Amino acid sequence: MPELPEVETVRRGLAPVMEGRTIVSLTQNRADLRFPFPDRFAERVSGQKVVRLGRRAKFLTVELSSGEVLVMHLGMTGRFTVSGHATAHYKHETGTDPAHDHVVIVLDSHDIVTYNDPRRFGFMELWPAEQFQSYPRLMAMGPEPLSNHFSAAYLDTALKGKKAPIKAALLDQSVIAGLGNIYVCEALWRAKISPKRLSQSIPGQRAARLAPAINDVIAEAIEAGGSSISDFASASGELGYFQHRFAVYDREGQPCPACGTIIKRLVQSGRSTFYCPSCQR
Ligand SMILES: [Zn+2]
Repeated sequence: MPELPEVETVRRGLAPVMEGRTIVSLTQNRADLRFPFPDRFAERVSGQKVVRLGRRAKFLTVELSSGEVLVMHLGMTGRFTVSGHATAHYKHETGTDPAHDHVVIVLDSHDIVTYNDPRRFGFMELWPAEQFQSYPRLMAMGPEPLSNHFSAAYLDTALKGKKAPIKAALLDQSVIAGLGNIYVCEALWRAKISPKRLSQSIPGQRAARLAPAINDVIAEAIEAGGSSISDFASASGELGYFQHRFAVYDREGQPCPACGTIIKRLVQSGRSTFYCPSCQR
């Protein structure tokens, strides 16, 4: 499942292709994904210029010259591919099944942006830009990692008195936006904090370790994704998926890179947590 760094990598890959370009046509190959497509979708998007491609949490935001924002979410298996006169012959090598190409956007540059999503948990919605503050799926979102609103002082306040395990609190999008299972596991390892520790015991010294740990794992993953953009764009036209080296995630039974202790797995709120029982207290 794409997490914030993967979505940011997709944004960075799509931005130079889409920004400043006019959408010539949009074709939707079915009525819905996770939710129905917007009413008159093609009509409202065609002929519009892409002013800016942004991101909030795991949502891509395409600001259109019409004053509407096209909000796109990749769900679990959503992928974008870019093809066109330069890259058309790569399209068949991406490994995506054309049967799952649900949306095809043609730009005035002749580039084609295709959205493929086998499991269809992704979605696309249009929302007025001037009312974007009230877009319901983002209204309750906490601050973004790497933003000025996210800091140790913020965590002190947000976690104060919370009895949930810190792992669960960090997955709560109203506490911090865009963090998923992988990067929560990695950040807790880096901050040497047990995933089982109660959130209310984090404020203070642990929050002072945790905030930079979260920022660092996200920044490094975005950087790794950035370096993969050129590879993917040239090799397959597919954006946003790349190999990470994780310290603990999905490494049950292997040695902790810091101390050599065997990494353990436990299940919290139905999700696997990977951690080092020696380093993380
Ligand atoms: Zn360790």
